[in-house]
Amino acid sequence: MSEAGAPRAGAVRYPVVAPGVGDFRGASATEPAAHWKATAAGERLVPTHCCFCGVQCGMYLRVTEGRVIGVEPRNHDINKLRLCPKGVSAYQQVHHPDRLLSPLMRDTRDGPLHLVSWEAALDRIVSEIQRIQSRYGRDAFGVLGGASMTTEKTYLMGKFARVALRTRHIDYNGRLCMVSAAAANKKAFGIDRAGNPWADLLETEVIMVAGTNIAECFPVAMQYFWGARDRGAKLVVVDPRETAMARTADEHVALRPGTDAAFYNGLLHVIVRDGLTDERFIAEHTVGWEAVRDTVAAYTPERVGEICGLDPRQIQRVAHLWGRAGRCWAAHGRGLEQHFQGVENVLSCINVSLATGQLGRPGAGYGTLTGQGNGQGGREHGQKSDMLPGGRDIENPEHRAYVAGVWGIDEADLPPKGTSMPEMIWQMAAGEIRGLLGMCNNPFVSLPNQAVVRAGYEALEFHVQSDFFLSETAARADVVLPSTVWAEDEGLVTNGEGRVIKYNKAVEPPGEARTDWQILCELARRLGAGDKFPFRSPAEILDELRVASKGGVADYYGITYEKVEATGGVFWPCPTLDHPGTPRPFEGGRFYHPDGKARFHAVEWRPPAEPPDQAFPLRLTTGRTVAHFLSGNQTRRLPGLVEQTPRPWVEVHPSLGFADGDPVRVVTRRGAVTYPALVTEAIRPDTVFVPYHWAGPIAANLLTIDALDPISKMPEFKVCACRIERGQAVDPVPEPPMPPGQRPYQPETAPLGDPRPPTSPQGRGTAEP
Ligand code: SF4
Repeated sequence: MSEAGAPRAGAVRYPVVAPGVGDFRGASATEPAAHWKATAAGERLVPTHCCFCGVQCGMYLRVTEGRVIGVEPRNHDINKLRLCPKGVSAYQQVHHPDRLLSPLMRDTRDGPLHLVSWEAALDRIVSEIQRIQSRYGRDAFGVLGGASMTTEKTYLMGKFARVALRTRHIDYNGRLCMVSAAAANKKAFGIDRAGNPWADLLETEVIMVAGTNIAECFPVAMQYFWGARDRGAKLVVVDPRETAMARTADEHVALRPGTDAAFYNGLLHVIVRDGLTDERFIAEHTVGWEAVRDTVAAYTPERVGEICGLDPRQIQRVAHLWGRAGRCWAAHGRGLEQHFQGVENVLSCINVSLATGQLGRPGAGYGTLTGQGNGQGGREHGQKSDMLPGGRDIENPEHRAYVAGVWGIDEADLPPKGTSMPEMIWQMAAGEIRGLLGMCNNPFVSLPNQAVVRAGYEALEFHVQSDFFLSETAARADVVLPSTVWAEDEGLVTNGEGRVIKYNKAVEPPGEARTDWQILCELARRLGAGDKFPFRSPAEILDELRVASKGGVADYYGITYEKVEATGGVFWPCPTLDHPGTPRPFEGGRFYHPDGKARFHAVEWRPPAEPPDQAFPLRLTTGRTVAHFLSGNQTRRLPGLVEQTPRPWVEVHPSLGFADGDPVRVVTRRGAVTYPALVTEAIRPDTVFVPYHWAGPIAANLLTIDALDPISKMPEFKVCACRIERGQAVDPVPEPPMPPGQRPYQPETAPLGDPRPPTSPQGRGTAEP
């Protein structure tokens, strides 16, 4: 054991079923307690977690003869034996015939990709990095990471960029997902973390869920909400669509996309007017209330009703429901956050919780639902452009000095703050960034205003991308490196509650695939920084990460693999080895600003960056569907998920005059795509919805706008102006990219050729009464 209790380098780690974590299996880990035998002789059950969303459900991978052959649910505290359709399909990634097994390279920008050795691929990468940086400067080479990687890998991404490349240009795809909530949490609470474990929901009386389709995006988290409902909790859902959850709500607040801050100001107006604030909590635990109180005075229910397209009486009802309850819970997702005003939207929601003292107790909670599996851990330890490990600020001299000391470099050699992922794309198009290393992201689907994204990548002199399937972005790279799936490595992940859990290795990588941390260490060695990257295992990386985070707000020093396995998860901050973790960071009204108080922020509502007008009279909003995950690279090749949801559609209100399946052309100032119509009363008449998981000519992000929140730099995915027209025929779904000469896997249960949309992807579906 190391000084900190982590395992030593080179040790073979075979996961065990830790006793006492609520596992339903017996001590042998092969016999279920209920005498139900699901595994055959010789099978090994590897306890791990799902690779997809921020819930991070526990699961077992069934392994025999070095192959993952299936999955079983695990009675982990988080999910208690439940898995969603993505969770039960995740294992199909592991031995999928479309996996990348060897490096690929193209010799000229428009030449074809061909197989190449690792040696040749790494030589080319290093020589291009050196050429570009010596010719244009260190900042001319950028790095883009992702929040589905383990925390150890995200830590190494940040260190690689700043120590091996010494570039300021590193950012990650959480920029598209969680940063508005993160920035608002830091401003309000001094820490970017959820306030409570989800189990606290069972104690709540009123839940207000804003801009998150939980039943489709975080399905297993629904158990906590249903549990609270069973115990009598009232439910308010704020969403322009009548999602499955909204359909069951006591109040469905179907506001216009882009009006959230006005709604929360309106709630607070009524709460103040009717004497429902918690004056003692405000006085003892907060700063800045007067400015907020004065600001919301102008947000009468009538004015807010006008802005949001709501009945003013509903604003009053919701304010009274919340203000008169003893324990309330606010949860939100991308619908509140992915806006030009995303940070302020979240702050306006937090203002309501602070003004009523609804934080830091069982049942009185707050939190964002993180989209990616490691959405939380992936933004804490240095792959974000403005952040160093431990949630430290790259512009703070003390923070810089500490991390430089851990890394063994001069503080002066640590690059300054960089720019955000969308800004880096613009800098690529402008010739400021000439080379790029991408890992665990797929901007050719996930970023808005795709024409600009493609122009940025086309302008690069060199682009290397690692992935385990040939994503749309990897398919355009000059060098493609085959990497691993989550079941082929170990490491920590932090779920939406702030609970740190662990992925365990089940099988060896296929072919010549290597883990991203091995790739980074080898590149660093070839770039002359090998002494700073001596890691031989994720455990060794974690040892250094723990020290680098020590004393920071996101302190992981006391978190070891052994502790996580023994407890089923540790909530950060966890500053010492004997610290139990912090499930409720705001308990007792304690916040993380130096004076221990939370901060109010006065927010004035601003209209979206592109409000509707005569030419584009509707609002386009985008989102997810249960069968697919983010850019779809991980799910669009898994047969059950493709069969369930083979293509995107557009949801339109019956008043717009279309029938189910009609080809409807959605037009914005950036592009046009023809989708089959799903006609439903579950959406506002002034709004249309398209799911965004698909690529190429049917990508929703051909249509979306790249206006950024000025603080978080998150794009406004959730609203832009559009019009719809009757189309000729729906645009076909393109095949996923493959290396030259290979065809995508065609399962026996081929995806349906039917171009119509699913009958009822959410809510009540059709216009039937
Ligand atoms: S809810 Fe999320 S973590 Fe759980 S099985 Fe589904 S995708 Fe995986």
